[in-house]
Amino acid sequence: ATLALSACGGRTEAEQGTPGQEGAAGFEKGALIGVALPQKTSENWVLAEGLFNDGLSAAGYQPDVQFANGGVAEQQNQIQSMVTKGAKVIIVGALDGSQVSSQVQQAKDSGATVIAYDRLILNTPAVDYYVAFDPFKVGELQGQALLDGLAERKGGGPYNIELIAGSPDDANTKNFFDGAMSVLQPKIDDGTLVVQSGQTEMSQVVTQGWKAENVQKRMDTILSGKYSGDTELDGVLSPNDTLARAALTSVKQAGKPTPVVTGQDSEVESVKSIIAGEQYSTIYKDTRELVDQTIKMVDSLQQGQQPEVNDTTDYDNGVKIVPTYQLDPVIVTQKNAKEVYADDPILGKEIE
Ligand code: BGC
Repeated sequence: ATLALSACGGRTEAEQGTPGQEGAAGFEKGALIGVALPQKTSENWVLAEGLFNDGLSAAGYQPDVQFANGGVAEQQNQIQSMVTKGAKVIIVGALDGSQVSSQVQQAKDSGATVIAYDRLILNTPAVDYYVAFDPFKVGELQGQALLDGLAERKGGGPYNIELIAGSPDDANTKNFFDGAMSVLQPKIDDGTLVVQSGQTEMSQVVTQGWKAENVQKRMDTILSGKYSGDTELDGVLSPNDTLARAALTSVKQAGKPTPVVTGQDSEVESVKSIIAGEQYSTIYKDTRELVDQTIKMVDSLQQGQQPEVNDTTDYDNGVKIVPTYQLDPVIVTQKNAKEVYADDPILGKEIE
């Protein structure tokens, strides 16, 4: 069900001077729209850069799209500079969800609207909207895919698995992990799944910077320490494709059979791997859809209207519930890849 955030209790527009009403005045077409992206830790961010530049330009705005390749301080400076240049909307994919609060507050103070893109911005009232593929659902789908893959490829349990989480500074990481553990924890408790390393807390399994090399190092250590001799690793919960491929590399180098490995992002190399029967699953979060939805929000704000949202209860950032347009992630395995990617301009070709 889609609820527009327009239940204003019968107040006139002039009376709606509260947060969430930022669009009331609108702004000129041709305005500067800032897009602060994190680091290029997966293909979706690179796709977003191109789509924002093209989509915002086509809609008549002046885009300013930046990557924070140098880290948190660089992203903070970029947001500040967008404010100084007079951006009317600032779209932020936060590198560290807890480290941009004073910058987005400056944006608010300047009269700009702040939209959190893909990653929520935490612990600040200065975020107006959030647009994302439901991150908890992503985790649930990954957890379920791991169970399905084990049953399909590894016969009866119990199964040895290891867990990998994303970067601890990314606000999505906890949602991905909690979503997956909502499915896996009961199976760990009843003995169906065994984590030989004993590392089951998120703090023990996070991957700083979403870096493949960090997963490879950790998996190498676990494999040599806990999976010597005949002990096999049957499955790996991986939060995205980059880290899934790192885990597969590590297992291959240890000379062990291919485990069931989950992923996310539908990166080209992983889609090929899934079709070849190696990586078990990924998640499709169509970046075109996410960027389109964000640009729709910008259009509403430009016209002085409130952007459409469809979730006003789930995304508590620590100080407020952020009105959200939530999209549905899709699980992909060898079985449905052809169908899911049929209309994707890049992935459609990989599966022909
Ligand atoms: C995104 C994922 C991505 C990860 C690393 C997350 O915030 O939601 O799609 O794999 O960042 O770039």
